[in-house]
Amino acid sequence: MSTSAISFSDQVNKNFDRAAALSDIPPDVLEQIRNSNSVYKLTFPVRRDNGGIEVIDAYRVEHSHHRLPTKGGIRFSLAVNQDEVEALAALMTYKCAVADIPYGGAKGGICIDRSLYSEAELERITRRYTFELLKKNFIGPGVDVPAPDMGTGAQEMAWIADTYMQMSRNEIDAIGCVTGKPVQFGGIRGRKEATGLGVYFGIREACDDADDMKQLGLKTGVEGKTVVVQGLGNVGFHAAKFLSESGAKVIAIAEYDGAIVDRSGIDVEACQKHRQETGSILGLPGSEDLQPSAAALELECDILVPAALENVITGENVGRVKAKIIAEAANGPVAADAGEQLSKRGCLVLPDMYLNAGGVTVSYFEWLKNLDHVRPGRMEKRFEENVYRNLLDAIESASGYSFSAEERKGIAKGADEQDLVRSGLDETMTNAYRNIREQRRRHKDQVDLRTSAFLVAINRIASAYEHLGIFP
Ligand code: NAD
Repeated sequence: MSTSAISFSDQVNKNFDRAAALSDIPPDVLEQIRNSNSVYKLTFPVRRDNGGIEVIDAYRVEHSHHRLPTKGGIRFSLAVNQDEVEALAALMTYKCAVADIPYGGAKGGICIDRSLYSEAELERITRRYTFELLKKNFIGPGVDVPAPDMGTGAQEMAWIADTYMQMSRNEIDAIGCVTGKPVQFGGIRGRKEATGLGVYFGIREACDDADDMKQLGLKTGVEGKTVVVQGLGNVGFHAAKFLSESGAKVIAIAEYDGAIVDRSGIDVEACQKHRQETGSILGLPGSEDLQPSAAALELECDILVPAALENVITGENVGRVKAKIIAEAANGPVAADAGEQLSKRGCLVLPDMYLNAGGVTVSYFEWLKNLDHVRPGRMEKRFEENVYRNLLDAIESASGYSFSAEERKGIAKGADEQDLVRSGLDETMTNAYRNIREQRRRHKDQVDLRTSAFLVAINRIASAYEHLGIFP
């Protein structure tokens, strides 16, 4: 749903153009970067369980081939149309470039309401879509690698991988044709919490910038900051959990049926448990219910984390939003007109294009694991543990100090798959934030972080084209 009369692609291109105008990249290169490189619109028949045939509309857009493979989710939604898929594919290109992930952007969509199909029908649709993509060379570990998106998950990714592998028997890297797979079938540990953890890393970096915090009248660091989270789903729950564990105080959580407030700090895991037991976050002991849910967006707080839907902060409510930092965990939660007003009044908006890049980052690690054919950490974990043990022994004999069993366990630990994934995610989000921040400083803080992120992305893509020799 958009509050704007202009199309989703036009909105993305408007943001692109605003940043492009500040760059010295030639117009022909900018035009190449901006446009979708390949658009595949397809229809295919699927047999329903009742014996009838239904014709399904679907898309796959590869926005940019400056790096291969291209990468982006597949969504099942009745709202899927070519403009939306092209816009989302373009955003993937810029997101990957900002996070320095060596992919072009892509996106796929199948125009269905998944609740109207049986499991067997969904499997037939997913497998047939994969087959059609393969026929036209729109899928493959070195070509185009889908992932889950709205309405799809690990099961659909497993069907895609299986179909592709059956059709490409001699391709040793075939399982890398898709990411977001179940861990038992080529997936990676740490994918589930990746986006929320990435959101936390991004917020932590922003809060560690002493100059920015001073401008906002806030202390440096996450600790003690008050946080409101909208949406206790995958992204919102993990972001809230990691923020709380770092000393921030989650004072309100909003869900579709209402919000809860507790100024002394909500126990996020208890709230999740309460929701699982009762079907709602409302009525959590120790907290007060707040209606309507959207009123939570207007509470006094340091950080607002919209992690549910697009366009929740618009021209209509932006004047009442009091948060000093808005962390766009969801895609597109701040409408374009509201973004301009927030910028003008000095609110720090951490843009979605950067902040929710944790998912694609860990997808990248899954793909690397698939190409390596070995679980990260398998070769070195024991070796590292032995090195640390030897070091501890040497320290003990030189100093006379004796480490407790607990201390030994904490120090002499080799990194396993999840440790490595989290560390790689931290590195990626931290570096990306520093690059965006640096870009903003180069413009004397006269541009917002979204424009800076676009500038980082556009410059990276332009320089890839330069090295490809397409634009001498
Ligand atoms: P999810 O479905 O797990 O969670 C969404 C949550 O928002 C649900 O708990 C839902 O009940 C709640 N919600 C729905 N309508 C609401 C309303 N009006 N007010 C308050 N809460 C409401 O989805 P998710 O995977 O956490 O994704 C959330 C957002 O993050 C989406 O915009 C998605 O595109 C974006 N995102 C997700 C990932 C990922 O890896 N999951 C990656 C990048 C971006």
